[in-house]
Amino acid sequence: MVAKLEEVPLGKRVLDCVGELGNVWLVGGAVRDLILGRSPLEVDLLVEGQLDEVLALLGGSQQRFDRFDTATVELEEGTVDIAASRSETYPHPGALPVVAPAAVSEDILRRDFTINAVAVNLDQPTFVAHPDALADLSEGIVRVLHDQSFADDPTRVWRCARYAVRLGFQVDQHTAELAAAAGPGMTSGERFGHELRLSLRETDPTQIFTLVQSLNPAALIEGFEPRPSGLSSALDLLPQDASRELTTLAACCAGVEMSLLTRWLDYMQFSADERDLVAAASRWVTGEPLRAADRRSQIGRAARGAPIEAVALAGGANARLWIEELRFVKLEIDGDDLIATGVARGPLIGSALEHTLDLTLDGEVRGRQEQIDAALTHVEQAVQGQ
Ligand code: ATP
Ligand code: MG
Repeated sequence: MVAKLEEVPLGKRVLDCVGELGNVWLVGGAVRDLILGRSPLEVDLLVEGQLDEVLALLGGSQQRFDRFDTATVELEEGTVDIAASRSETYPHPGALPVVAPAAVSEDILRRDFTINAVAVNLDQPTFVAHPDALADLSEGIVRVLHDQSFADDPTRVWRCARYAVRLGFQVDQHTAELAAAAGPGMTSGERFGHELRLSLRETDPTQIFTLVQSLNPAALIEGFEPRPSGLSSALDLLPQDASRELTTLAACCAGVEMSLLTRWLDYMQFSADERDLVAAASRWVTGEPLRAADRRSQIGRAARGAPIEAVALAGGANARLWIEELRFVKLEIDGDDLIATGVARGPLIGSALEHTLDLTLDGEVRGRQEQIDAALTHVEQAVQGQ
């Protein structure tokens, strides 16, 4: 396995730096992926003893979390998460664990699933694993280590679904029963938010949501739709600079009551910008007027100011025209050009520019001079009409 690790650039870098220390283990997902013949995307290391020597040899940019004796190291080749091996006990379900130094064999037992309860020493050919780990890896089963697992940490329901979908594994029957019986738990919103984001980054989040719903419907907010119709056409329409993840989340949340949705997103520590985007897109705010528009200027009026994700979710030919072409149409003039001709500052300038943009979108006005003329005509008519 260590030889296979050598073939991955990040693995080679880790082996070159700390492979001979003797107290450093590859653990969890990377070991699982190597056994399954998949290439690990990131590396988790377990250190028996202090982290200092390992961190000094690895270099890169480092962030250390003393409370849990863990660190994250960013190297050119990828990210390495490092922890001192330890045991964990939960003072009450869902609480942050109390940790104490322990041997690797004990550390393995605090893991989420048997397929992740695996570690290999980087120096000696020593492999430590949960007794069911290898059988579950070869049969494709996601199984918790003990009956308290979901009560200790309810985010494991999400992790369970994520691994099952990503790896094409089955959830063990008893594990599914435990997940169904788990309460909502008392874990921090930030940790739930982290798991939700990880799910959104996977190839097919909707499959994960569907599995989460069947494992434990209480894990999802009321009104959440795991498989929203219209999502795949919205994703097809979505340009590179828009967020697939937030579009997916917004589509799933179209039926969630608005104040509940914003509170949920705040609780999970989504930023204010992300929350507002998801909230707006989830209402498909631009949907109706955008679909009904039959002039380019009407499409502009319906879509302008809305997040691109919302326009994609509204779907249809007008959404495509806006995303691919009309959103790039800009005026060659601005308010200062009108003020320079003697127009007083005020809201009339904004409405004159918007009217001119309508005419430009509809092809009735071309170029800077025609735009200035059109805007001034609008101002004159408005003043005469007062
Ligand atoms: P991925 O391939 O998505 O990175 P991973 O298995 O490496 O999956 P990480 O989140 O990187 O997952 O965590 C590394 C390891 O730490 C896991 O394999 C698992 O052993 C352990 N772990 C992570 N989160 C939990 C948790 N909530 N409860 C118990 N063990 C966990
Ligand atoms: Mg990992």
